[in-house]
Amino acid sequence: MKSSRIVVTGGAGFLGSHLCDALLGEGHSVVAVDNLITGRRANLEHLGSDSRFEFLEHDICRPFDCGPVDYVFNFASPASPVDYSEHGIETLRVGSLGTFHALEVARKYGARFFMASTSECYGDPEEHPQRESYWGHVNPIGPRSVYDEAKRFSEAATVAYRRYHRVDTKLARIFNTYGPRMQINDGRVIPNFMKQALGGEDLTVYGDGSQTRSFCYVSDEIDGLLRLAWSQEAGPVNIGNPGEFTILECAQKVLAVTGSKSQIRYEPLPADDPKQRRPDITKARTLLGWEPGVDLESGLKLSLDYFRRAVAALASARV
Ligand code: UDP
Repeated sequence: MKSSRIVVTGGAGFLGSHLCDALLGEGHSVVAVDNLITGRRANLEHLGSDSRFEFLEHDICRPFDCGPVDYVFNFASPASPVDYSEHGIETLRVGSLGTFHALEVARKYGARFFMASTSECYGDPEEHPQRESYWGHVNPIGPRSVYDEAKRFSEAATVAYRRYHRVDTKLARIFNTYGPRMQINDGRVIPNFMKQALGGEDLTVYGDGSQTRSFCYVSDEIDGLLRLAWSQEAGPVNIGNPGEFTILECAQKVLAVTGSKSQIRYEPLPADDPKQRRPDITKARTLLGWEPGVDLESGLKLSLDYFRRAVAALASARV
């Protein structure tokens, strides 16, 4: 594969920073663009001395141009329900204006464009498992709409640039992903449960815990995304782990892996919380030869050191 110059928007985020690592590992040059609204410089600190890496602090809701590039990976957006509720307008703006600006960079330089979309496009799905052909069941005015509709708009903009401007685009629908570099306080279920289990607090299960999610370990996710990126496929392609767990089962796994004696406490279910979610990954399997290899228990074990350190850092910051 020839070496390319690549822009990653949202490059200081959880997935964005792992993507930067993987692209540098493949021999490319990387420009990470991030306004640090939810991303963190710490996620990129280890790249400081790599001359093939640049960081541009910039909000992609304003136009940007970092010179000729071969590929644009558009990963910029608050992504946890807590973060996108807090930054609702910013989330809508980055998924609309930001995506347009990223697409313009690709068009200007004849670069390929990769859109990090989401299983949230399926909303609270009535088809199970979710195939890419499913149009979804999204509440356009509910609390999750700032994220869901922004990502759906991003998908529409991406395919429009393909149709009208002949940009070579890719669409990935990313399902719940976890691993090192997740923000300990972003409210998502795995960091929350880890923080609670390691801190000796009750694990807060929302609702009766029967809602399901399918969790993909970050290295599997990045591998799937890159296979799509370098393929001839346009997508959308679901990239997620089809292993499906109730949230109660997830809490029990976190307790087992951490060896914690914490109890489970039930709290109200947030509005519009999807009842079930599992990717049908037939397309990824057949078109990309990809399937995840890390099951939930192994992935939690692989993440344990990181979460231990994050919990300790949080505790010392509070002192
Ligand atoms: N959840 C929970 N306890 C928590 C955090 C989340 O029971 O402390 C539930 C949440 O209601 C949802 C699932 O875990 O059903 C996944 O939530 P998350 O915020 O990780 O992402 P989502 O898949 O909902 O976007």
